[in-house]
Amino acid sequence: MSNILPDDLATRTAIIKACRWMNSSGINQGTSGNISVRTGGAGEDMLITPSGVPYDDLAPEMIVRMSLSSEPVLDAPLKPSSEWRFHQTLLRNRTDMAAVVHAHPAYCSALAINRESIPACHYMIAAFGGHDVPLTKYHLFGSQALADDVVKAMRDRHGCLMSNHGSVVVGESLEKALWRMEELENLAKVYTLSRQIGTPVILDRDEMAAVVAAFANYGPVKAP
Ligand code: 13P
Ligand code: ZN
Repeated sequence: MSNILPDDLATRTAIIKACRWMNSSGINQGTSGNISVRTGGAGEDMLITPSGVPYDDLAPEMIVRMSLSSEPVLDAPLKPSSEWRFHQTLLRNRTDMAAVVHAHPAYCSALAINRESIPACHYMIAAFGGHDVPLTKYHLFGSQALADDVVKAMRDRHGCLMSNHGSVVVGESLEKALWRMEELENLAKVYTLSRQIGTPVILDRDEMAAVVAAFANYGPVKAP
């Protein structure tokens, strides 16, 4: 681990903590899901979880470093997550974002199994950049087709559901991506519950456009 720079070590440690939090919070389970964070002086690399390693067994040196512009180094000690393709392309295309989180949360997955996207059932949908959280078609996990569809769905959104699989979000930081994943699972849950007790009322495009605009000014007032 001696060749790991201090900043890099902090990011690796934060990724491991985030993985463990996903499972302890109930948002994810087992070795499902994966996390990547942009790194390198000019943000030209990413650090990504290895494939299939239980989160409790992860150590900083097991997190895989990859260029954002090339295939993984196949003789690296551990293989990167099988979903490295959408992590890499999202971080390459979404220069406004620093982290990608994928998980298999129960309510997101249940809606995705029913092949449903999440409409504007709650104003917090705006945290995902528009009036809905889209759904990708079904593709084999780890496939280029899945990566292409995820990247397409998230061209103008900060999250999506994946048919018969789970969900993906991006964040301006790792903390923001984790926050978004928790919000997304809550939205999937309240949307599912609202349908069990009645007929949800969906906010219209004008109402959602107003929320998206209001979000731009939301948050604590910055000191002058
Ligand atoms: P990895 O262990 O390869 O990251 O795969 C988990 C997963 O969720 C695949 O979609
Ligand atoms: Zn998955």
